[in-house]
Amino acid sequence: LVSRKVKKEDTVLDIDGVRIGGDAPPIIIAGPCSIESEEQMEQTAEYLAGKGVKILRGGAYKPRTSPYGFQGMGVDGLILGGRVARANKMLFVTEVMDTRDVEVVAEYADILQVGARNMHNFALLREVGRARRPVLLKRGLSATIEEWLYAAEYILSEGNNEVILCERGIRTFEKWTRNTLDLSAVALAKQETHLPVIVDVTHAAGRRDLLIPLAKAALAVGADGIHIEVHPSPATALSDNEQQLDFAGYDKFDEALKPMMKVPAGV
Ligand code: PEP
Ligand code: MN
Repeated sequence: LVSRKVKKEDTVLDIDGVRIGGDAPPIIIAGPCSIESEEQMEQTAEYLAGKGVKILRGGAYKPRTSPYGFQGMGVDGLILGGRVARANKMLFVTEVMDTRDVEVVAEYADILQVGARNMHNFALLREVGRARRPVLLKRGLSATIEEWLYAAEYILSEGNNEVILCERGIRTFEKWTRNTLDLSAVALAKQETHLPVIVDVTHAAGRRDLLIPLAKAALAVGADGIHIEVHPSPATALSDNEQQLDFAGYDKFDEALKPMMKVPAGV
């Protein structure tokens, strides 16, 4: 179902007027790694909305390496994220980690995110496949392109055709970056499937100084958008403080990417 052999033309999602994929201009999904407080979310959403960002991200359920790390605000975070996004006329995307939470996450989020660590969670893939919300599907930490596309197939096979593929870097022997951004996977997923494909530069790089060149490269190979973490005060963030951009950092990112974010001719 995900294959171009089955459907030749690009799938273009239209989520409350925000178009993703095909001839739509590239989209930016931005926001903090974790939802931490009302002030943090309001400041971030207001700032990003002012920059023209239409989709706000923020984790309420966090897949942390250590069980003692901040695990997210849960339902309170969902409510907060949904409210702040709406107040700023943005869509809200957040991760769902457990089949039991799909219903409540779908109540507050416009897009359900399946994280890298759950790409192989087939029960969760089936459950979001039955939800009436678009799904942002991250590539697993060490998933092949084929495994990633089969994970998307699980979602479509349950009747949900609204899937956005997201390359977020894979594990390699390289240590100077947190993961290795696989640009071939972006080009291949665009070629082999009709689904929109975006690139999460934050988790791919794991360091701020590579976000601009990686985002440019992603768009150059055909990505339909960029996913990036932005926090009012990355140094004090409860997760991912090495790689989130502050507002001044996002100003620079926005400026650098602007020439590549133009509306395609004729649209
Ligand atoms: C995230 O986007 O919040 C996240 C945890 O990313 P990933 O699943 O790609 O590691
Ligand atoms: Mn993060």
